[in-house]
Amino acid sequence: MRIALFGVLATACVPCALAGGSAHPTQSAGTLAMADNPFAQPSTLAFELPPFDRIHDSDYLPAFEAGMREELREVAAIADDPRPATFENTIVALERAGRLLARVESTFSRLNACNTDAQMQQIDTETAPKLTAHRDAIHLNPRVWARVDSLYRARATLHLDAESLQLLTRYHTEFVRAGAPLAVPDQARLRDLNKQISSLRTRFKQNVLKATAEGAVVVDNIAALDGLSAEQIGAAAQSAGARGLTGKWLITLQNTTNQPVLARLSNRALRERIYAASIGRARGGATDNAAVLAQLVRLRAERAALLGYASHAAYQLEDETAGTPQAVRDLIGQVAPAALARARAEAAEIQKLIDAQARAAGRPSFALQPWDWSFYSEQVRKVHYALDQAAVAPYLELEHVLQDGVFYAAHELYGLTFKERTDLPVYQSDVRVFEVFDADGKPLALFLADYFARDNKQGGAWMASYVTQSKLLHQQAVVANHLNIPKPQAGQPVLLTFEEVTAMFHEFGHALHGLLSDVRYPLLSGTQVPRDFVEYPSQYNEMWAREPAVVAHYARHYQSGEPLPPQLLERVIAAQKFNQGYATTEYLAAAALDQAWHQITPAEAPATEGVPAFEAAALRSSGLDYAPVPPRYHSTYFSHIFESGYSAGYYAYLWSEVLARDTGQWFHRHGGLTRANGDYLRAHILARGRSADPRALFRDFYGRAPEVAPLLEYRGLVSASGG
Ligand SMILES: [Zn+2]
Repeated sequence: MRIALFGVLATACVPCALAGGSAHPTQSAGTLAMADNPFAQPSTLAFELPPFDRIHDSDYLPAFEAGMREELREVAAIADDPRPATFENTIVALERAGRLLARVESTFSRLNACNTDAQMQQIDTETAPKLTAHRDAIHLNPRVWARVDSLYRARATLHLDAESLQLLTRYHTEFVRAGAPLAVPDQARLRDLNKQISSLRTRFKQNVLKATAEGAVVVDNIAALDGLSAEQIGAAAQSAGARGLTGKWLITLQNTTNQPVLARLSNRALRERIYAASIGRARGGATDNAAVLAQLVRLRAERAALLGYASHAAYQLEDETAGTPQAVRDLIGQVAPAALARARAEAAEIQKLIDAQARAAGRPSFALQPWDWSFYSEQVRKVHYALDQAAVAPYLELEHVLQDGVFYAAHELYGLTFKERTDLPVYQSDVRVFEVFDADGKPLALFLADYFARDNKQGGAWMASYVTQSKLLHQQAVVANHLNIPKPQAGQPVLLTFEEVTAMFHEFGHALHGLLSDVRYPLLSGTQVPRDFVEYPSQYNEMWAREPAVVAHYARHYQSGEPLPPQLLERVIAAQKFNQGYATTEYLAAAALDQAWHQITPAEAPATEGVPAFEAAALRSSGLDYAPVPPRYHSTYFSHIFESGYSAGYYAYLWSEVLARDTGQWFHRHGGLTRANGDYLRAHILARGRSADPRALFRDFYGRAPEVAPLLEYRGLVSASGG
């Protein structure tokens, strides 16, 4: 059985998204109508790789339907078992249930993200509410709950090993959190709240989409676009043309408050217009999200109260590594002063540049505003880190980075080796499959590398798990990394930016978490850990992208084979720390907003007209209301927390990064890139999935509680904080 509360199946993240979940092949065949369906039986390919060459869009819906029917039958058999509940006949039986559904769901959702089409999107819309209802039907089945609860109460007498006890605890926790112990009328209220919350989330999403499209800024005069590249101007003309605005230019908006185009536009009035359009999104009018979110946070607070929690944040955080709202407040409070001090220093430098340019031009100067930041900070960057991307790129060639960087580090640390398999089917011809072998030469997993951008691929970068490792089901991992690297013309080398190299290491950190998993139960496998733990192995693995011993190995000129000159590497790394005051502050401000919206009781939820004042007060009380650095998202377009699965969880990236940077420090204190160090991390973290409490896993590895100093150092925030 696959557990997913409130329909949250995959997590979107910065800089990547990670699709968790599991695929569990089965012995049962489904129904007769399913006879020719590629999901009907477990795949017979190596590592149970999905038979991509045999899957058609028309196979999904019948497989979903049959899979839900099959799982309900299996769960009913567990519920109606006349024998007393045992760990085997209840918990392990639930783990074994739902194989067909897991197979189709994992393959469908992964392909819908990386290789979608209109029909798949329609199937997604159609199946999402059915899957939510399906999971409610299992979690709110009183006879299943009675068995799970009786076992949990008797856990001290069951003589379970540690991992089995953890599994029982997870099942109990998930049922409790889904509302299983509630009285029948309260469960009805819960289902009703879930439904309302779900439809508000959809409305929020649709409003953001519409408001973002409508917020695009029309420019009548090409002179106003000074600073943009010919390519950008061409794209703006094309966008305008697509809306029937021939002879004009259209600046479309990105999700965030700050708009990338502001870094290049020299016309200050146009910058201000774009900024105003960005922060004005979904405020008032037909796409007003203030009303939607005010209702949403009230209903979430009500649901939390119904489930016995002080707030939605308390409910969400209980199941995270952080544990409590106080712990999140503490983390934000620990990082905020250093981030703000750095941001203020960056602002002072920008202001100096603004003043100097005004003096030189004989114009009056002006005070730095949010719409000015990127434009001038880009100029400051050019002065201090004159980094010629064209000079670095020839040293960062994709194949070298993959084989001699990403795979090399995994070999040095964990003894892994990789062999390309061209005999297995893929869903798209650019996708490559590698078989992963352990240090003892035994086959360990499959790794799919899907690195190039495509029109039918979701943006950003993420890891996806097609098959999760589990000894119970005799399964080894099949994991994929998806990036959006522009594909050059045939015959041209694939030269990367250092950010893309870092993203490859980041995503491979998630992949390692999946493929090194060594647990018994599928629910506890690999990356199925709390949100604020899942970005830990990935952000940790980024450190090897900039480790001199690894860089020396992969960063070689694609033609001459010459190594990247050390002074160029130093500049590349120094540039990574540039503008981190701004980046950290805008992130923390958004995280503080998220907490404020979700730490309230139902009575504290504001009315629609109180939304702006609530937001302002939240920024003030967290000390993050610094005008030149607005929150990365304002509430009315903060999709992470109001639409996707990050409510009360936007802090999670930073929490994970604290663990990652502590781990980096641990490696450096213990001699860096060695098998002994790698094996130690593997045994304590990467192999363990959620087979124990993540807090305990980290403490056992690190020897003490997490600390923020290494993170401040990594982000270059130390000097400004004075320590
Ligand atoms: Zn990630």
